[in-house]
Amino acid sequence: MKPRCDLCADSRVTPLIEFGAHPIAHHFLTDPAQAEYTHPVTLGFCEACGLTQLMDPIPPEKFYTDYNWLSSWKWNPHVPRLVEAIEQMPGLMKPSPVFEAGSNDGTFLAALRERGFTKLLGLEPAQDAVTAARKLGVETVRAYFTPAVARELAASFGQCDLFITRQVLEHVTNLPEFAEAMRVMLRPGARVLAEVPDFGFNQTAPDYSAIWEEHVNHFTAETLTRFLNDVGVEVTHVETAMFSGQILIAFGTYTGNRIAPKAAAVAESRAKALAYRDRWPKFRAALHSYLDSEAKGGRKIALYGAGCRSSCLINYTGLSSRLAFAVDDQPEKQGRFMPGSRLAVRPSEALVLENVGLCLLAVNAENEEKVIARHAEFLRRGGRFASIHPPSPRLPAFWKTV
Ligand SMILES: [Zn+2]
Repeated sequence: MKPRCDLCADSRVTPLIEFGAHPIAHHFLTDPAQAEYTHPVTLGFCEACGLTQLMDPIPPEKFYTDYNWLSSWKWNPHVPRLVEAIEQMPGLMKPSPVFEAGSNDGTFLAALRERGFTKLLGLEPAQDAVTAARKLGVETVRAYFTPAVARELAASFGQCDLFITRQVLEHVTNLPEFAEAMRVMLRPGARVLAEVPDFGFNQTAPDYSAIWEEHVNHFTAETLTRFLNDVGVEVTHVETAMFSGQILIAFGTYTGNRIAPKAAAVAESRAKALAYRDRWPKFRAALHSYLDSEAKGGRKIALYGAGCRSSCLINYTGLSSRLAFAVDDQPEKQGRFMPGSRLAVRPSEALVLENVGLCLLAVNAENEEKVIARHAEFLRRGGRFASIHPPSPRLPAFWKTV
């Protein structure tokens, strides 16, 4: 099914979890009877390098051509910490060339410009994001990051002293090509900052909503380190932060010498991946019985937060018939229907109007308090909230025991 691993090109990628065929999580419907393109979502594991990855990714042009997503829409609470870490990097000066692969709308480079960095370049394939970045005055080239593009940039802009890539590597189906492009752009001794969702966290949470069609690679600290080592980057420090779930931030220095992988890391990754696989059917059954008990006495159950993660979780677990509707504060989503489940998306008031008993919260854990505070009337009438996004303190009790 998969000819080669995204990371090491080995052919031993074996299926781990088959979630079934599902529509693209960004594609909301205007009519619940509308036909949808679906694609199988199967998580696989590479026996050679330990990277967990999608077996059969959707061709990127299916969703990136008119990719409707800008970084600045989402609050990035960890950005000040990253900027501070960059300012403290030894040898990195304010005029040092800084390059960001997958710079989206340029907000991160603009944050560095505010701190006095003067030589900044972004690379981004999505037209909307490039337009937004240029409006911000951030120099941005529209292209995918390939070795040929990197050679052009290295000739015109120069190699960089700081290479940044945030929330990009999980989308890349050809990591060896990305690695080669990195080697072209990096000056020996250059610093590297790489940020990805933390699949190690998702495995223990457990969080199955993190598996969606755009994230073709699911990195742990071990596999992210392996990728960077293969580029020739010595990883000096890895930390975590919260941003739509837990993320990994790796810091390193480019030495130009590839570092050989450790075999023991693969065995450990394998054990964790198999445990995640074995928990999936138990998790799905426990979620259904939890909702069965909550629906007793005719209590209506609704969902708050019609995002990609909740869409995936509802479709993979087959929850649509158990939910009355979804609520979302984004006016563009209201009046539409969620992909796959075809749940109607309504404004917040619907929770009270429809006499909902339980509302499943599908918002980032750091935003839950704010959302709950806005629903005093729902709570006063006996409505309750329970979260479906780890690491919330409001996860139903079964979550920890499956
Ligand atoms: Zn591999």
